Formats: sequence, structure tokens, C-alpha cells
Amino acid sequence: MLHAPILARSVPSSTLHDDRPPITPARYVGLRRAASGKSIEQIAALIATTASNQAEVRALIRLLETPGTVARSLDSIALLQAAFSIDPAVYHQLATEHADRHPQICRGCGCSQNDACVCVELGNCAWAGPGICTGCTNGERF
Ligand SMILES: [Zn+2]
Ligand SMILES: [Zn+2]
Repeated sequence: MLHAPILARSVPSSTLHDDRPPITPARYVGLRRAASGKSIEQIAALIATTASNQAEVRALIRLLETPGTVARSLDSIALLQAAFSIDPAVYHQLATEHADRHPQICRGCGCSQNDACVCVELGNCAWAGPGICTGCTNGERF
């Protein structure tokens, strides 16, 4: 397995069921960007090579974070990976699969077992409870 699973260390998986409305693809992008601590402007500056390109990237990120928006192509999600941690496979599942089949995603930071938070003391985060990771409850991320 490529990624270490972040199954709960102490919380049984049966208690991890999250009854709240599913995280939307747009919310996922917003959570991952916010967790990176970078503004839309900072991310555009990292990704784009020219000033006019930066304006396009800013518009793209704003669009991707607009509720109800689903990217036509995962290429735009892959583009964001140059600036912050986001998983196109998770995005694809949120966009195309029934909520029952969504991966568990932290409602605080958008992490999943595909892209766990890395914390100073805890290492990779685990599930602290339904839809919340230990990186959000007590970790200090790198
Ligand atoms: Zn989290
Ligand atoms: Zn986490």
C-alpha cells in the first residue's frame, strides 16, 4: 500500500460514521487550500508563470471553490497539487460517487487517508472522531 492508512488509533471505525451532509468537491478544494495556509493569490503566484496566467489561475481557484462547481477535468485539480496538498482521486470520488462511497474526509482540513496531515509530534494524523482528524484536534502541522 502506497499510503499509510490513517485508521483510528483508539476510535473504533464503527463510530466514525458521519451523518452530516457529504463534503462537496468545492468544499474539498476550499478545505485543502485553507489547510495549506495560502491565499488564492499566493497559490496563483506559485502555479502561474506569467501575470496574465496568474489571473487565470486565480479565477480557476475561485470557480473550483464556488459551491456547486465540479471541475470538468481532473487536470485542474492536478494543477493545484503544485501549490498545496490535494488528491485528484479523492476529488473524483466526491464528484462522481454516492456519499456512501466517499472516502472519510476531515471537516476541519480536508485531509483523507490519501493525504494525511503531517504533524510535528504525531506524525501522520489519525481519526479523532467522525470527520475530524488528530491534526485538527491536537496536532501542529508542519
Ligand atoms: Zn483535519
Ligand atoms: Zn488530518
